[in-house]
Amino acid sequence: MKFCSHCGQGVTEHIPPGDTRPRYICDHCQHIHYQNPRIVAGCLVTDQRFVLLCRRAIEPRHGYWTLPAGFMENGETTEQAALRETWEEARARVADQQLYMLFNLPHINQVYMFFRGQLVDESFAPGEESLEVGLFSEAEIPWDQLAFPTIGKTLKQYFLDYRQQQFPVRMADITRPLRGGPA
Ligand SMILES: [Zn+2]
Repeated sequence: MKFCSHCGQGVTEHIPPGDTRPRYICDHCQHIHYQNPRIVAGCLVTDQRFVLLCRRAIEPRHGYWTLPAGFMENGETTEQAALRETWEEARARVADQQLYMLFNLPHINQVYMFFRGQLVDESFAPGEESLEVGLFSEAEIPWDQLAFPTIGKTLKQYFLDYRQQQFPVRMADITRPLRGGPA
């Protein structure tokens, strides 16, 4: 960050009195620009032993498969964000959604929240940010072409839980990128 979002003057990074971390502080109006993790919300859309995947039409990881997910907007709940992203990316309607996986990714300052829900009908289609959308069984999933580590972990957990027919909420920390790609 170089310029103040309030007055447009330059900012410098230093620790404010009483704080413990360096912040971007405006040299002119003294506004302190706090930066905090962002929430990514998405859906694991399921139809029995099948799950809905989207192939990304955007960077990063263009062409790789993902679960519909994206940054939460101001004014919405995490559940609304997950359903909105699922509609935008996969034109899929979801029912009975429940929180399923929460990932902390401190190295990129993100928190991922995936809801698990039932696909309502098979009228899904690629949205603007997807090349294609499809239903995959465990054996059909392109495991080596998944966009992010959070996707593979969520899918693996789902197929384990599906065998037991129990889907507890789980939390995991991913503290560095796997396979060298963005997490
Ligand atoms: Zn300022």
